[in-house]
Amino acid sequence: MAKDLSKKCSFCGSTDSQVNLLLMGLTGNICDACIERAYEALREAFDTGEDEEDTPSELHTMASVPKPAKIKEFLDQYVIGQDEAKKFLSVAVYNHYKRIEQKVENDVEIEKSNIIMVGETGTGKTLLARSIARMLNVPFAMVDATVLTEAGYVGEDVESILSRLLQAADYKVPATERGIVFIDEIDKIARKGDNPSITRDVSGEGVQQGLLKLLEGSIVNVPPKGGRKHPEQAFVTINTKNILFICGGAFDGIEKKIGQRLNTRAVGYKTSETKSTVDRNNLLQYISPADLKAFGLIPEIIGRLPILTYLNPLSRETLRRILTEPKNAIIKQYAKLFEMDGIKLEFDPETLDYIVDKAVEFRLGARGLRSICETIMTDAMFELPSKRNKSFRVTLQYAKERIETFNEHKLRVA
Ligand code: ADP
Repeated sequence: MAKDLSKKCSFCGSTDSQVNLLLMGLTGNICDACIERAYEALREAFDTGEDEEDTPSELHTMASVPKPAKIKEFLDQYVIGQDEAKKFLSVAVYNHYKRIEQKVENDVEIEKSNIIMVGETGTGKTLLARSIARMLNVPFAMVDATVLTEAGYVGEDVESILSRLLQAADYKVPATERGIVFIDEIDKIARKGDNPSITRDVSGEGVQQGLLKLLEGSIVNVPPKGGRKHPEQAFVTINTKNILFICGGAFDGIEKKIGQRLNTRAVGYKTSETKSTVDRNNLLQYISPADLKAFGLIPEIIGRLPILTYLNPLSRETLRRILTEPKNAIIKQYAKLFEMDGIKLEFDPETLDYIVDKAVEFRLGARGLRSICETIMTDAMFELPSKRNKSFRVTLQYAKERIETFNEHKLRVA
């Protein structure tokens, strides 16, 4: 058949065989290359040339920061349970922005309220920090404390944390200076043992000292590209005074220290009341700065993390809710994937219970829910797009077969 010559880009004249995509309009067409050029032109036309960094939408003013109850409501959409941590975080973030807005009068200066969250891995610490940043639309960077080392050692200097935040802020300094940093695994830089060793403690106290500088608010020279591989790069000066630091850690074994402290108190003051109300199954709820110190964080760091909160271990019921309730719950994501192929996806309730059982059995926690779902769904995702099915139901039997066919040992953790 002769080629239809009207199928040409009305802007550059390329025919549809010469371009990747040709969008047809009523009286004209446009090719992908011209769409790109048009987009660039639009961006240029609407770029007023003003310094975007100083627009109020990027620099939160109190009027634009939601009230604590609203912040919690937002977090509820993404994080299941963990009400205590959500409350603490909501208030801390709200106060943080109040602090930024404050005019120092009568010598009353609201102090910085960095946060530390203690809870088993996979209970939602990162998710909480990430969700807060998403809501406030501020730059967010996440770092693992385990990669940090004292300057001069193999690993990353603490300043690399700010390099990441600067990158997340598109290299805009004012936005960076109001961002949020999440430092994960802060417990891994705890001092091992109470006696500072003679040899330098590469990943412990030295790093804590380095972090202290950032936490308390100071002016830091930051290599914008991070690392030590680009010695030629010019440093950018960042003031960390208004950067909110949220730290998280599992603090394995800290319950023992909490228990010891509670016991001593109960005996020391002979308050049977304290003893009787202690819930031994979840000692984390009684965590106090003294326990962090006993674990090996230096008092100066603890003092710079005045908001201490904890996350509960995830119960079976919470895991079940995590599967379906959050705004971007795993099950909703699969439904969306199938919907894009015109297939209505349904999970039987027993299947969801089974997925939770497996996550508990394999000790995978919330992170495991996804790998279990992937194992169950891979064959269906492979086959169904080429079939004509309009719906697909994931029954308990189907899920069991998939898990059993797949080598269970691969899912199991030691
Ligand atoms: P942590 O930082 O405590 O180790 P994460 O926040 O990274 O754990 O959680 C891992 C994953 O598990 C998250 O991406 C999320 O999908 C899920 N998850 C964990 N806890 C919750 C929760 N309370 N509500 C919803 N999802 C959760």
